[in-house]
Amino acid sequence: MTTPELTREHARALDEADPLAPLRAQFDIPEGLIYLDGNSLGVLPRATPARVQQVVAQEWGQGLIGSWNTAGWMTLPARVGDAIARLLGVGAGEVVATDSTSLNLYKVLDVALRLQRHDAPQRRVIVSERSNFPTDLYIAQSLAGQHGCSLRLVESPGQIEAALGPDSAVLLLTHVNYRTGRLHDMAALSAAAHAAGALTVWDLAHSAGAVPLQLQADGADFAVGCGYKYLNGGPGAPAFAWVRPELASHEAQPLAGWIGHARPFAFVPGYEAGRGITRYLSGTPPIIALAALECGVQTLLAAEPLGGMAALRRKSLALTRLFSEAVEQRCAGHGLALVSPRDDALRGSQVCLSRADGGYAIVQALIARGVIGDFRAGDAESQVPDILRFGVTPLYTRFVDVWDAVEHLRQVLEAGQWRDPRFQQQAAVT
Ligand SMILES: *Cc1c(COP(=O)(O)O)cnc(C)c1O
Repeated sequence: MTTPELTREHARALDEADPLAPLRAQFDIPEGLIYLDGNSLGVLPRATPARVQQVVAQEWGQGLIGSWNTAGWMTLPARVGDAIARLLGVGAGEVVATDSTSLNLYKVLDVALRLQRHDAPQRRVIVSERSNFPTDLYIAQSLAGQHGCSLRLVESPGQIEAALGPDSAVLLLTHVNYRTGRLHDMAALSAAAHAAGALTVWDLAHSAGAVPLQLQADGADFAVGCGYKYLNGGPGAPAFAWVRPELASHEAQPLAGWIGHARPFAFVPGYEAGRGITRYLSGTPPIIALAALECGVQTLLAAEPLGGMAALRRKSLALTRLFSEAVEQRCAGHGLALVSPRDDALRGSQVCLSRADGGYAIVQALIARGVIGDFRAGDAESQVPDILRFGVTPLYTRFVDVWDAVEHLRQVLEAGQWRDPRFQQQAAVT
């Protein structure tokens, strides 16, 4: 089926009819920039600088140590966790905002492995995907070593179910693949894991704030996610952790620190885990960073009266669909292949393209034109292609931004502009 020819007017009409369009005003986006990297670092909410200033000047500067009580600092990880819980479809008191995704993954995966070791010592395999985000695989390797377990990595999503069996302890997956944008069916895969007797750990780095979630209903046992991507919490923002309430009080987590203790200010020498998810806190919460994260999460909750995550998801799919179709119509013959799934049910909130060569330089040429995407290197040996990645964030990406981005891409390719030597130099962060 061919789509009718797309035009910029068509994109403008979509913006005009978009009930979520006013949400963009919540952000400070540099004039003229088309920012398609909110899946790597979300943009700055307008409310954040004043809130951070208030925390620094008033709460810290004037309130000093008293602010731990009077400014609600001590409860901030739980309060921000409660706000995030609304995006995950889980209840208040079930999420904490804390530490990094890597650290939270370490905590929950260790607990999952220990639960299995008690109940089913023959279960010694962590099942995951070779294409999972590297930190997830590194943390899993580290814990596999400590627990005498092994890691079984499948090459494609279709192989996951067959990789689960009587030896599986944990199914560890990232819900939306960071390279390809492919979205897993959480309910189906969790059910398959449970049928095989495995627990599930879901990394929501590219899902929270991007796709609607219902962790409890979809069979997640543990979940972690990232604060600086779709949650707009700022560079290095705290991450979050959720544990199914029935499991949350079963074990102490491995980084059992005083803030996760049942009575931190009793200063007793013996550890006694706090109730439920609060035990997943370890050390003193980073108050300034949590205040910024709270502002970021509020930008998503502001969509609730307009239909919330379901409405954001509809717009996200329309944006990525427009992007994909515009690339196919307007950039044909330039060697680009669409890597992100065409099927709405399988696509997260990003469009990924591959090209045999020049991917890095094409992204650099786009950045020079004010179109910010990013590049993820492939691996020729394992036939993983280089990826040009464009994240859409329905809170602030406009249809006309997508149109213009594709138009810049067309011009960069048509003029061979990316061959310019200045676009070949690799920076440390891609
Ligand atoms: C971004 C991302 C992370 C980041 O982990 P940090 O500990 O914040 O560096 C982890 N996992 C996935 C899947 C990601 O996409």
